Amino acid sequence: MNASSVYDLIVCGAGPSGVCAALSAARLGLQVLLIDQNGFPGGMNTAALVGPLMTFHSGSTQIAKGIAQEIVDELAKRGGTLGHIPDPIGMVPTITPVDPELLKLVYFDLLRKESNITLLLRSVITGVTADSVTVHGKGGTKTYRARRIIDATGDGDVAALMGVPFKEGRESDGFAQPMTLMFTVENVDRTQVIDYIRSRPDQFVMDRSCSIDDYIAVSGFFELVQQAQEKGELTFPRDRVLFFEGVQKGTVTVNMTRVTLLKGTRAEDLSVAESETHRQLDEALAFFRKYLPGFENCRLKSVAALTGVRESRRIQGIKTLTQEDIWENRAQEDSVGICAYPIDIHDPTGKTLVWDAERGDCCYDIPYGILVPENQDYLLAAGRCVSATHEALASVRISVACMVMGQAAGTAAYLSIQKDVPFKDVPVNELQQLLHEQGAIPGKKWLEKQGEENDS
Ligand SMILES: Cc1cc2nc3c(=O)[nH]c(=O)nc-3n(C[C@H](O)[C@H](O)[C@H](O)COP(=O)(O)OP(=O)(O)OC[C@H]3O[C@@H](n4cnc5c(N)ncnc54)[C@H](O)[C@@H]3O)c2cc1C
Repeated sequence: MNASSVYDLIVCGAGPSGVCAALSAARLGLQVLLIDQNGFPGGMNTAALVGPLMTFHSGSTQIAKGIAQEIVDELAKRGGTLGHIPDPIGMVPTITPVDPELLKLVYFDLLRKESNITLLLRSVITGVTADSVTVHGKGGTKTYRARRIIDATGDGDVAALMGVPFKEGRESDGFAQPMTLMFTVENVDRTQVIDYIRSRPDQFVMDRSCSIDDYIAVSGFFELVQQAQEKGELTFPRDRVLFFEGVQKGTVTVNMTRVTLLKGTRAEDLSVAESETHRQLDEALAFFRKYLPGFENCRLKSVAALTGVRESRRIQGIKTLTQEDIWENRAQEDSVGICAYPIDIHDPTGKTLVWDAERGDCCYDIPYGILVPENQDYLLAAGRCVSATHEALASVRISVACMVMGQAAGTAAYLSIQKDVPFKDVPVNELQQLLHEQGAIPGKKWLEKQGEENDS
């Protein structure tokens, strides 16, 4: 394709949703331009060190397959994942720890294999029309044309530029979930950590039926955090230490820093957040060495390139996912996938964490309508910026659900072009059938069918 060509599809953002959208569309024959401001794909999972991937299972049933599973399989070939393992914290049935650096290599490899994907990196999207996207990068400002556009920026930047109505934060005061700078420490004496967990189980949220000998994850050390806070040695709003071991034993990635009341869609706020989360990291590291058993000699291995943004714009779609959809494990006629992650809200203004611990297995359909903006014909959203309430986004934002939505969005773009219809008129039964043929699971109904076929 040359500079004046019209792409079939421009995918804006190469995070988990954008990569899966680009791959599914390209495999159906579309010419795709995939744009990202970073120098590598993966979004939060690579740039912000976010992991483990959650979640491929509801109970013992695998609910997400397709490209999401293919990514895990490719990582496994490179020793970049432990696969789907039980969650020691007990929040979800399985977690999938991944090596973020190897994940970058897998993404690049999968994208390179599709000759009809053009990758445009280190380019910030600054303008959009119904059939074009303008970016600023080295060499200046350029405009690329396309028949369809997918907004996979996480922040809904493209939708906002096109005038799609959106919401930010919770209904009561507009504040969104806090931002967190993830970091990895190595040289942790895991035997000491395990011994402490066993001696003080009251100090941890954990699934007691899950062995921690082979893999540790921690949500707790409540008392030690409180002691440090009382002495003024930890000064940020967090009630616990949260970390997951990586692919290498004795190396853990920490999800603990917290910046509240700032917006992920304002450069000024992001700048304050970056400075503040790095200050918090400094403090957390000193706290780890002084207070946490097994961390006396830990070393800072890596710091995320970006402070992670959990929540920003949520577009107004022709459907909106709600808390009730999740709590009632609702099936949807226009399902394109399943999510099994419960609602998990990091307090927008405080230090706590609220999740649906007692509601049993979570397993609800992701409806196509939450990807379709209410006032644009040829734009689709995928990933964290879809149409959901603040509470529902606290579930469907999770990485695996973003991959699932991305695959659905790329396939919907193919059907929209093939049938020459706006996104809202894409025949959902054909979309589901295509997703099924790609090895994905387009909804609970399909999962049941699969179960019946296996039984017969
Ligand atoms: C701190 C934190 C902890 C989390 N913990 C977990 C966890 O343990 N497990 C889990 O599964 N999920 C977790 N998540 C959630 C998950 O990582 C994200 O919700 C998910 O990555 C969103 O995927 P996405 O594709 O929608 O967006 P992103 O991953 O944000 O990707 C969007 C991409 O678009 C690009 N982009 C954005 N704007 C522009 C622009 N204007 N121009 C060009 N490019 C642009 C970005 O550079 C990025 O690469 C966590 C998130 C955070 C922030």
